[in-house]
Order: sequence, then C-alpha cells, then structure tokens
Amino acid sequence: MRNPLLGSLKSNTALHFINGELTASANGATFDSVNPATGELICKVALGGAVEINAAVAAADKAWREGPWSKTTPSERATILRRIGDEILARKQEFAELESLDSGKPLQETMNGDIPRAAFNFHFYADLCHHQVSPSFRSDDGSHHTTIREPLGVVGLITPWNLPLYLATWKLAPALAQGNSVVLKPAELTPLTAYALHEVLLKAGVPAGVVNIVQGFGPDSAGEALVKHPGVKAISFTGETVTGAAIMAAGAPTLKKMSFELGGKGASIIFADADLEKAAKVATRAAMRNQGQVCLAGSRLLVEESVASKVIELVKQEISKIKIGDPLDPETTLGALCGVEHRNKVLSFIDHAKSLAGVKIECGGNVPASVNQKGAFLEPTLITNVPQESRLIQEEIFGPVLTVQTFKTFDEAISMVNGTKYGLSCSVWTKDIDKANHAANKIRTGLVWINSWFIRNLHTAFGGMKHSGVGREGGQYSLDFFSEMKTVSVANPLHERHGLVWI
Ligand code: NDP
Repeated sequence: MRNPLLGSLKSNTALHFINGELTASANGATFDSVNPATGELICKVALGGAVEINAAVAAADKAWREGPWSKTTPSERATILRRIGDEILARKQEFAELESLDSGKPLQETMNGDIPRAAFNFHFYADLCHHQVSPSFRSDDGSHHTTIREPLGVVGLITPWNLPLYLATWKLAPALAQGNSVVLKPAELTPLTAYALHEVLLKAGVPAGVVNIVQGFGPDSAGEALVKHPGVKAISFTGETVTGAAIMAAGAPTLKKMSFELGGKGASIIFADADLEKAAKVATRAAMRNQGQVCLAGSRLLVEESVASKVIELVKQEISKIKIGDPLDPETTLGALCGVEHRNKVLSFIDHAKSLAGVKIECGGNVPASVNQKGAFLEPTLITNVPQESRLIQEEIFGPVLTVQTFKTFDEAISMVNGTKYGLSCSVWTKDIDKANHAANKIRTGLVWINSWFIRNLHTAFGGMKHSGVGREGGQYSLDFFSEMKTVSVANPLHERHGLVWI
C-alpha cells in the first residue's frame, strides 16, 4: 500500500512546493526516486532548475517583503512552529516509513531518531522564539545603544541525503523562527519527506511563499541556481566538503552569508583504562548507525595497544549482533546504503584495503547474500592494522566500515586523531577524568564526547573545524546565522556628562 503521505501525487510525481502550491517543472522534467533497498521506482520527482528557483525566490521575497511572515510577532511564529512539530509527530509513523523507504535507513532509526527529532527541531525553536536577548549598553554620555536582530529575507537551505528530514528541519526551524522566508533544496536521492512536509506546512497555517521546496540536483541544477540567485541572502548547507567549496565560490559574486556543515572522519579513542565492553559497544554503534552514513560517525577506532586484541574481539561480537535486512522490518538494525552507486564506492575502499600489505579484513567486506541483490546493502566491515596515511583513514568512506589503528602513547593517539583534514567529532574512552580533559583540549574537532557518542543538547554549538565546516549551528548560533544585526542608539541630551564627539 502506498504511503499516505504520497497519496496526493499527481501523475505519480512529487512536485515542487512554490508559493503554497504544488507545481510541476516548467519544462515538465522529472527524475526517478528509487527505493535503495530494492532498486524499484517509488515515484517520479519534478526536476527543478533556474526557472523554478526564480519562481520560488520571487514567492519567498514577496512573502517576506510584503508580509505576512516578516510582520508576524515571535509569539505568532512560535505558535506556528509548534503546530508544525505537533503535526509531524501526529504523522510520525507515515513520515518514518517514507524516510526508510526513500533512504534505506532502518525504521527503528526513523521512528526513534529522525522523525521525532525533526518534530523537536520545531518545538525547540518555538520555545527559543520567546527567549531572544538584545544586548544593551549605556555610554558615558548617558546615551543608550541596543543591538537587535532582524530577519535576513530570503534564505536558501541545501541538505544532504543521510538525515533528510532531520537536517532539513534543523535549518528550517531557526530560519522561520527569525522571520525569514525560505527556499529548500533537498538532496536528489531523498526528496520525499521534504515533499511530504508541504502537507504539514499547509495544515500548520504557514502562509504561501514562506517555505518553498524545489527538488532537483546540485551542480548545473536547482542547487546551483539557488546559490547564485542575487535575491538569496544566505545559504545554509550541509553536505560534502568539496561541494561546500564549490558553493562558496558560486555564492561569492553575490556576497552571500554562508554556513557549512561538511564531511567528517570521526574517531573513537579507547584507552586501556576504559570500560572496554561499553566502549566497544558504543564505538561499534558509532561506526554502523545509519549504515555508517553519518557525518559524526566514529569511523576510526584508535585503541591502546595493550588492550587492542580484546577490544577487536568485543567489536566483532557487537558486529555479529547487527541484523541486516529490509529497512521497513522493525527488527532490522542495518538497512541499505543510499544507493548502489554509493555502495560500490564504499566497496572500492574495501578493495583498496585488500590491496594493502598487512591490512586485515576481520569481518564483513561483502554484499550480504541474504538480502535483495538489487538493493544497496553491505556487510558491516571491520578492518585492522590500517596505516595512517592510507585513503581509508584520510578520506570519508561514509559506509558501515570501521578501521582500527593502535597506539602506545597519549601523544601518538592525539596525533593520529588530528592527522586528517577533517575536524568534526571524536569520542574519548577512559576512566581517568584528567586524561579525558587533556585529550579534549588537544583534539581539533568541533565536538568531543567523553565516554559517549552522539549525545546532544540543541543549545550547544554544532559544527566542525578544519575541512569539516564553517560556522556553527545549534540554539542561538543558528538564530544568529539567520539574522542581521542592527544597532539602535538613543542620545541623552539631558545627561550631565558629555561623551567623546565621534564625528
Ligand atoms: P553532497 O555535498 O553531495 O550534497 C548535499 C546537497 O548539496 C544536495 O542537496 C546536493 O544536491 C547539493 N549540491 C551538490 N552540488 C551542488 C552545487 N554545486 N551547488 C549547490 N548544491 C549542490 O552531500 P551528500 O548529499 O552526499 O551528503 C553526504 C555528506 O554530507 C557527507 O560528506 C557528510 O559528512 C556530510 N554531512 C555533514 C554533516 C555535518 O553536520 N557536518 C551532517 C550530515 C552530512 P544533489 O543531491 O542533487 O547532488
């Protein structure tokens, strides 16, 4: 039975959502949305380009310039954001099934992670609407100066396929909270939950033109047109590092404000004094969750030499508990990768590992026989004795592949963890709080977890150092990105003291 969120498809095509209406591409172009677990067509998707982006930006600009969105109060926006979150939760099962169908990720994850978190993004920013603080200063001459924040206008959001609705809403909610209007370009591999969001937006009372969703590809397509459009004031992008660099260049002529969440090469460092069972369990999850397609994945395991063989055995035991299969089966813990092309890219890393002397594939490394052979499946794979300079350590694999390296000293571990171009996240496992703290000081990543992985508080700064990002998202940081600052100064001619004369 077709997912109810796709029930209204016209001509079996997920259309754009522009100016409050479902809209086909002007030239009628479409592309296929394919179920990565079976290779079967789910539906067609409208393929947008410059024409559709122009229409979406015009609608967004009108909604912003003429209202009603930019004229709403924070309280009114909070009410609408809360309704969006409520409506996503009310349809959690439908959204979760659609996300699993479109992306290949297990229903367990979409039901308990992606979709509730998408709803929470709106609830969280609904609350923050009421907590905006404007710093004020009184000068020597008694004048008052207040810096307030205003919306930017039309902002562009470009999102990846690994956490489709979760990341789209992570940008959408703060952009709307600040009173901007939006054009969202979802990844072409996972367009469907963004498409389905239009029903929620309409039901929640989001006015026409405030949120526009244009489907399409990135280069030479809707994504690039959005980045180049002079009417778009900012781009918030999550995706690969090389794409971020291309977007930065394409947006430069129109001087756009940009925020980038890019690739990662996270590590779990396990010191000999750690709780090894727990560390091995969480480090395995850190590498395999969402088939390893997480920017924050702990895809590298760095383990102190004296406990390495024990930890490797524990990780193998954890891997043996993983259940690969149909993403829609509630028992499945490892679904399909996002597509066969990507799965084959991940396989090429494993082939490379096989060609390296001394490197050992401890388990996995193959397409499992038990699943649909047209699907993009891959066994969870553990590779040991991997040299630091190899592609397996230096490049983002973005699949269920965990590499293992050993170290003898603290400094060696830190040098290995910092020895890639990425700097997004790292987990440190030790019972020694001083060692943990010292490691957190030395590690060059935007996020450091101590004896944990993936725990988050949405108020905190989220983002990466080095080639993993530019800027930070989260809580007030996102609200700051999606706004302009304006300082309003009021003179006090009755004040007994005169200040400096500035001009
Ligand atoms: P991509 O960079 O391939 O694509 C991301 C988005 O950008 C897609 O919507 C894509 O469209 C679009 N795009 C591609 N090229 C351009 C262009 N020239 N101009 C404008 N838009 C463009 O990333 P993936 O979708 O492959 O996502 C995986 C990547 O995302 C990984 O590197 C991962 O680490 C990173 N990521 C980072 C996170 C973080 O917070 N740091 C979080 C999650 C993921 P299309 O799909 O059509 O190509």
